[in-house]
Amino acid sequence: MFDTLSDRLSGIFTKLRGKGKLSDADIDATAREIRLALLEADVALSVVKQFINRIKERARGAEVSQALNPAQQIVKIVHEELIGILGGEARRLQFAKQPPTVIMLAGLQGSGKTTLAGKLARWLKEQGHQPLLVAADLQRPNAVNQLQVLGGRAGVEVYAPAPGNGVGDPVQVSRDAIGHAQRQMRDVVIVDTAGRLGIDAEMMQQAADIRDAVNPDEIIFVIDAMIGQDAVATAEAFRDGVGITGVVLSKLDGDARGGAALSVRAVTGQPILFASTGEKLENFDVFHPERMASRILD
Ligand code: GDP
Repeated sequence: MFDTLSDRLSGIFTKLRGKGKLSDADIDATAREIRLALLEADVALSVVKQFINRIKERARGAEVSQALNPAQQIVKIVHEELIGILGGEARRLQFAKQPPTVIMLAGLQGSGKTTLAGKLARWLKEQGHQPLLVAADLQRPNAVNQLQVLGGRAGVEVYAPAPGNGVGDPVQVSRDAIGHAQRQMRDVVIVDTAGRLGIDAEMMQQAADIRDAVNPDEIIFVIDAMIGQDAVATAEAFRDGVGITGVVLSKLDGDARGGAALSVRAVTGQPILFASTGEKLENFDVFHPERMASRILD
């Protein structure tokens, strides 16, 4: 992830080494190169534009520093602005005042929702919570089974429609699961919902119906970091169709160019809460904007 972008940026910064004060022309040329590197990494155009304007403005206004040479100063500005587009500070999960806390997962099919449900359950259990997983993805034939396997690995109960009762109604299953969680003293309920390969109205409506039935404390939009330029349209569709309170980036272990990771915060206006970095349950961590920015500039 980000290998090409990292290489490109470090090449741009190397060219500035040994320069005295940067002229406006130097700053413009550097900004142009950074712009191109970000666009080639599939970062959304609107995000790139804002980013570059901030870099130019700050580089021009930068004080002559005793401690940093001009090249270092540009690196510092880019680092800080990267942290900014990644969301600044890490944001924790919001828990309900009255348990159970309800976390609903939404996203396209294949984005990594079901895997994330297992990871989140395992992680919450480690933090001392008593989670319940809910199989409300009744669209994909194997999703219930997959969640049961992951729940088994995490040692977390999975609430699913009884077998043999037909496809089942995901809204009803989700509603019933909340009652079950209350009776079983589970303090966090994680609802895995159905996705489609592309955005469609029926899928959005079902997600909105589940949302209305369970009144979630968090609606987490799971996005595959490999999605590239489709990130913006997908994120906007979920933001407008379901409403989201946080984002999880999945498949950050891949060799994608990273544009989705750098665009999704700005596009959704919501923080990135977690990063998923592999197929195993433990390949998962809280998302730290600063760490990711540092990795890009490594
Ligand atoms: P869903 O359709 O959104 O529920 O997606 P799944 O959870 O079934 O994930 C789709 C595929 O991506 C599966 O083969 C997962 O094993 C894989 N997957 C999920 N998360 C990650 C991740 O962070 N990294 C990698 N490399 N694969 C992942």
